[in-house]
Amino acid sequence: MRIPVNTASHRYEVIIGSNILHTAFDSFDAMLKKADKLIVFTDENVWNAQGDYFKKHFPYSFEVFIMPSGEACKSFENYQNAHTFLIEKDCTRKSFLFAFGGGAVGDLTGFAAATFMRGIPFIQIPTTILAHDSAVGGKTAINHPLGKNLVGAFYQPEAVIYDTMFLQSLSKREVRSGMAEVIKHALISNENWLMQLMASPSITNIESGQLALHLKAGIEVKANIVAQDETEQSVRKYLNFGHTYGHALEAAAGYGGLAHGEAVMIGMVYALLLSERYGQISREFTRAFLSFAYKNGYPFHEVLKYSFETLQQFLLKDKKAEYGELKFVLLNKIGEPFVQPIELSECREVDIEYRSLLM
Ligand code: NAD
Ligand code: ZN
Repeated sequence: MRIPVNTASHRYEVIIGSNILHTAFDSFDAMLKKADKLIVFTDENVWNAQGDYFKKHFPYSFEVFIMPSGEACKSFENYQNAHTFLIEKDCTRKSFLFAFGGGAVGDLTGFAAATFMRGIPFIQIPTTILAHDSAVGGKTAINHPLGKNLVGAFYQPEAVIYDTMFLQSLSKREVRSGMAEVIKHALISNENWLMQLMASPSITNIESGQLALHLKAGIEVKANIVAQDETEQSVRKYLNFGHTYGHALEAAAGYGGLAHGEAVMIGMVYALLLSERYGQISREFTRAFLSFAYKNGYPFHEVLKYSFETLQQFLLKDKKAEYGELKFVLLNKIGEPFVQPIELSECREVDIEYRSLLM
């Protein structure tokens, strides 16, 4: 399956399927043969779990740079090491990068590609469910000690090659985390699709063919939005549904304490509570959604570990906060997102309401 992504700056395709790594590069063969070096950036876990499959099916010779996994991959130190590797391997502006891993590897590799010699091309080869989101749309970043994703660039890949074979070695937690972004894409776009997801007996155990269809649907939502708004001036903000409260919780837990998607799921329930006030979401729906998420193992008890005062410091650092005013993405109905400024005092009220629902 091929999904076109047509942004203002660049057109490319997401190629998704099972066991496609050996054939997916056919359309890029001429471009890759012109490159003087192909460099694969990956992380330790991905290389241990999937390196053999990659070496067997990747059709070109390459050099590999193996990075620490998780957020450590997105440190300034690793960013510098990545550039050192490229320089020591005599890479030039004709070299080509591949991001082989989850969102962390994708974000670091994309930013390294955007900045090495003022920009060299790269291809995303995502290996997590979450990366159906992060690999598409061209946001690249590393973390600053004072905040996540604060240093980055919009820089689109030449292609995204998504071989779902890689998903087989993901832990249940990583599957759960990634599925939260799939559910987000459904919440902001399509009620029928959401109902189908909510009817799954287990969100972490969806059959692989069906899972590929959900991932395709999620990629289409993202592609459609970034085609309209590449640099988040307008509708791209909708993709941040659940992320304002989610990011605050992720920061409070110390990055890595909560998987990104786990935090986003918790943040989406908070956004639904706010949507009851500003849109037409019913308490009945919020309760049904919460019990669906709870049943699927999302760690809602994490909220109770932090006071609102702790969360509020991080809420105010959100990139969407302007002049101290918080902006939340809310839903009028399922599939109808909008952006709403919310006073901190109301955030506190809804936080209290949330905690009482969880106890
Ligand atoms: P990740 O890359 O840290 O991967 C999660 C864990 O799974 C890591 O330990 C990794 O080594 C391991 N892993 C990855 N693929 C595996 C596989 N196939 N088998 C076994 N283990 C595997 O995280 P993620 O959840 O994919 O992405 C989260 C990151 O993505 C965050 O840094 C977040 O900021 C970023 N993100 C970026 C965007 C964007 O638009 N650029 C969007 C959402 C999230
Ligand atoms: Zn996200």
